[in-house]
Amino acid sequence: MKRTVCLSFDVEDWFQVENLRAAFPISSWNAQKLRVETHTRDLLDLLDKYQFKATFFVLGWIAERLPELVAEIYSRGHEIASHGYSHQLNSKMSKEEIVQDIVKSKSILENIIHKDVIGYRAPCFSVSEGVMDVLHTNGFKYDSSFLQFKRNSRYGKLESVDCNNPFIHKSGVVECPLPVLSFAKNTIPISGGGYFRLIPFPLFHILVEKYLRENGFYLFYFHPWEIDANQPYIRTVKWGLRFRHYYGLSWAYNKLEQLFSSFPVPTKPIGLFLREDLDLL
Ligand SMILES: [Zn+2]
Repeated sequence: MKRTVCLSFDVEDWFQVENLRAAFPISSWNAQKLRVETHTRDLLDLLDKYQFKATFFVLGWIAERLPELVAEIYSRGHEIASHGYSHQLNSKMSKEEIVQDIVKSKSILENIIHKDVIGYRAPCFSVSEGVMDVLHTNGFKYDSSFLQFKRNSRYGKLESVDCNNPFIHKSGVVECPLPVLSFAKNTIPISGGGYFRLIPFPLFHILVEKYLRENGFYLFYFHPWEIDANQPYIRTVKWGLRFRHYYGLSWAYNKLEQLFSSFPVPTKPIGLFLREDLDLL
């Protein structure tokens, strides 16, 4: 059976993450020193070491300030896709605001790489039927934001979803969902991010192997700030949010390399996978 592993990185800085939002409203972002460039380059170097290619969902706000970073990611052979402009949850914006946010990010990215941007990932996976329609109307071909984990209320929902396989949504946009494993009535997200930092590597590896065997593909997501162990520590946000944000940062890079070296095949960008392997684009 053919197996494909896709890698994706959401390019945003540490202070833009929802868990720290109480301390960093968007109006405060301009005053922050950017750290994302260094850690994105660390990820690019690690990918080069394994000759892996990935999809980078870049926040428009970051792309506007660091166009040369976006150009570099692209020139090093990776796919550039959109993470929206302002990292506000779609569930907290009006339809007009969602359209503006998504269209603005697409045009910023396309002006840098001079190529169509066809992929989107919603901030905190806050996808919805309405967001899918906006994507379709505005020239996107795929979304990768559906994470079937009901315990996180920020995550969005889609009707009648096959949560383990990419499929063509009724909007016409292809959905490439984030992997979850189901045991009895429990769902374990094995898609990356904080779950990857939290679950001990030997167990995570077993779960990924199981998922790959059952589904023939696996999609992982991570962020540059998750390998930034020296980022400022914000004590004013609630303990639970701090735990989710800061847990495991200092060993995440090594764990990531362990994961990379465990993959049975080289990784590919999501757009290429949907086109080449599944003929969906
Ligand atoms: Zn994000």
